Amino acid sequence: MIIAVDGPAGAGKSTVAKIVAKKLNINYIDTGAMYRAVTYKCLANNIDINDEVSVINIAKNSIIDFKDNNIYLDGKILADEIRTMEVSNNVSNVAKIKEVRYLMVDIQREIGKRSSVILDGRDIGSYVFPNADYKFYLVATPEERGLRRYKELTEKGYDVNLDEIIKDIIKRDEIDSNREFAPLVKSDDAIEIDTTGKSIDEVVDLIYEVL
Ligand code: C5P
Repeated sequence: MIIAVDGPAGAGKSTVAKIVAKKLNINYIDTGAMYRAVTYKCLANNIDINDEVSVINIAKNSIIDFKDNNIYLDGKILADEIRTMEVSNNVSNVAKIKEVRYLMVDIQREIGKRSSVILDGRDIGSYVFPNADYKFYLVATPEERGLRRYKELTEKGYDVNLDEIIKDIIKRDEIDSNREFAPLVKSDDAIEIDTTGKSIDEVVDLIYEVL
């Protein structure tokens, strides 16, 4: 079984997908973490994100995998280092590179072949798994999405600025929606859920009604 959960940044996709995965006892793949991992590695190696050839080279020479719903880069588990503002500010420019996407999508499809999985991302229902069993498209206002990210990061101890987070979200959505290859888009057959003002449980319940 493949469940696709797409939508713009901070719409609640990963929180909800994790809960659904646990309840159904299936794997959860955070596809955004994969693009973040490549971006993190580029930044750590002082690669200019606009230098596509070098970014592609980094992506080609990276081993990205998931074990127990955790992401691994070159054998090492990744956690909060891929959630920094620096990674967030650069990730959409890495994710718009077609060759980088091909590499990540291959991994996602491979995982989908071996197991039942819920994936959250931008292009899961529209490009990666167009025949997914279930497709959801989560949205919320930029203000609410920004506030959620802000709370998430401050709870983890990061010193972040709400306006900056909202700006980052809007900018990422714009780049993600307007890129040439596999942009952020709602598939015609995806069920749209507006999560603005809804609790996590309410959104999970709405998904359950469909499954
Ligand atoms: O989901 P998250 O906000 O962590 O994703 C980070 C970035 O990764 C997105 O803004 C987007 O540029 C990219 N992404 C993508 N395709 C996906 C998942 C994420 O392009 N399937």
